[in-house]
Amino acid sequence: MEKYDVIIIGAGIAGATFGYLMRIKNKKVLIIEKEKIANKEKLCGGLLSQKSYNLFKTIFNIDNDNIPFKNSRKCVIHNGNTTLNLDINTFSIYRKDIDSYVLEEYLKKGGQLIDNSQYEELDLEKNTLKVNSIEYKFDYLIGADGALSRLRKAITGKNANKNFALEIAYDKTPKELLEIYFFDNFKGYGWIIPNQENAMIGIGNVNQETKIKESFNLLLKQIDIDASKNIKGAFLPTGDDIYLNYKNVFFIGDSAGLISPITGEGIYYALISAKILSENLDKNYLSKMNKVIRELKSELFLKKYVYNDKLRNYLFSRYNNSFFIKKAINHFIKKII
Ligand SMILES: Cc1cc2nc3c(=O)[nH]c(=O)nc-3n(C[C@H](O)[C@H](O)[C@H](O)COP(=O)(O)OP(=O)(O)OC[C@H]3O[C@@H](n4cnc5c(N)ncnc54)[C@H](O)[C@@H]3O)c2cc1C
Repeated sequence: MEKYDVIIIGAGIAGATFGYLMRIKNKKVLIIEKEKIANKEKLCGGLLSQKSYNLFKTIFNIDNDNIPFKNSRKCVIHNGNTTLNLDINTFSIYRKDIDSYVLEEYLKKGGQLIDNSQYEELDLEKNTLKVNSIEYKFDYLIGADGALSRLRKAITGKNANKNFALEIAYDKTPKELLEIYFFDNFKGYGWIIPNQENAMIGIGNVNQETKIKESFNLLLKQIDIDASKNIKGAFLPTGDDIYLNYKNVFFIGDSAGLISPITGEGIYYALISAKILSENLDKNYLSKMNKVIRELKSELFLKKYVYNDKLRNYLFSRYNNSFFIKKAINHFIKKII
């Protein structure tokens, strides 16, 4: 039976980044990916905040700009009839491009991959699993299988909390600016994320039961786009249901529930959890994640203010007349994007 130091479930950005970092440490690594790699698509805006972009470049040791990121230095925030223009530096990329890059780096370092497959049997006493009827042994098993993590459900007995998002790739009029849209009676927000040749237009909500489709139609109408046929939907974690470890099984990225509860930014958390786990696999992943968890908890606390219509409308309407409100909003938005 083939034995691996680490078997990773899921070749998304969290799993492939962790695999890459483990290969640098010369560990024997296998990734098992449900989808066929060539057809694998992840619905995502592909937006990286400055901290996410910096971390990505540090992990992959990139010092030039040979990856096609689009840099946007301005952000427009719409709240009803009020519009704020802020200086915020963000980077966007087609999600498929960044996923392929990361997986390629993992494979170049000698990582192994079985795609188009899922484990059939898992034995956490013997540390074995079976894929395509072949049994593999592991020292560590890593859950990186996304918001609907099968491994997490197998261990905890339940699905993690999740939100829902809708998105379209719109290529008729590429947009230049990152735009955010808030709506009354909707606990979420819409976005336009400019990319190289198109824009990702989407909406995500905080409570699943709120009317996401109606709000998305409102957004599409507001920007004069009729693209109803191309809309796709996907789940993302809520950011309030984090699970990191059971015995020698560790979770990273969406499968751990690591995502900003306010913005839904998840690429940063996929990268940072992969990095921290790679440095602390047999030591103290949980305690090293404390700082990250604290940040997410403070966002969780602030979320109810962001999605309080009355408070938001008041602050936005006073933005241009109050130095303090302007400063506070700018500070807050820069902190979370
Ligand atoms: C519509 C939308 C827009 C978003 N936009 C942004 C954004 O602009 N910026 C940002 O930072 N975040 C964004 N996010 C969040 C971000 O996409 C995720 O947080 C991020 O992809 C998490 O990476 P991951 O590797 O943990 O999970 P994933 O990227 O979901 O990867 C999981 C992998 O596991 C595989 N898998 C699943 N189940 C199994 C199984 N049983 N066996 C084997 N393999 C399996 C999947 O095929 C996939 O390859 C968005 C999310 C959504 C839904």
